Amino acid sequence: MNHKAMQKLSYGLFVLSVKTGGKDNACIINTVTQVTSKPNCIVLAVNKANYTHDLLMQSGKFTASVISENADFSLFKRFGFTSGKDTNKFAEFSGVKRTQNGTLAVTEGTCAYLSGKIVHNVDMGTHTLFIAEVTEAEIFSETPPATYAYYHQQIKPKPEKIGETSDGKTIWRCTICGYEYVGEELPEDFICPLCKHPASDFEKIIK
Ligand code: FE
Repeated sequence: MNHKAMQKLSYGLFVLSVKTGGKDNACIINTVTQVTSKPNCIVLAVNKANYTHDLLMQSGKFTASVISENADFSLFKRFGFTSGKDTNKFAEFSGVKRTQNGTLAVTEGTCAYLSGKIVHNVDMGTHTLFIAEVTEAEIFSETPPATYAYYHQQIKPKPEKIGETSDGKTIWRCTICGYEYVGEELPEDFICPLCKHPASDFEKIIK
């Protein structure tokens, strides 16, 4: 089986925001899909390792902002590569709008948002599938939404391959977020501490 075939599926990119106990938090997900139009239902897949996952379980309300092609890499760093457990991801970030259900839509580097309430969830092991009814939706701009492939080709900084030196250290770089692991061998069960992707998404770089 060629697992790279999975990368040929097309995905969007979304800032998923929640509010629980007076605190706003958000993460980036790549799975938001409309399931039915009457009622307007969508499905979201969220990794349980994300703090936002637990907050969404509690509150049952969210806004998914659709990331667009003009998004800066800093948006991904802010919402995707830090944990809301120790930081306020919205600190010093003004590109937001409070939606009717009390959660924040991100208005910079995005083209639309959908607010919703969870009506059902399905435990999928590492992830939970949340099925939700859309309660509010708006368009910010006509800039096309960014696909996951577009992010890899155009937004993510290109890793430089530096070449091999006799006394060089071996570095494994996460191809998703750029996190670097130093060590001769990358453990097979390694999970990127920033973006939670597995060892198979790392590439070996020699410095
Ligand atoms: Fe990563």
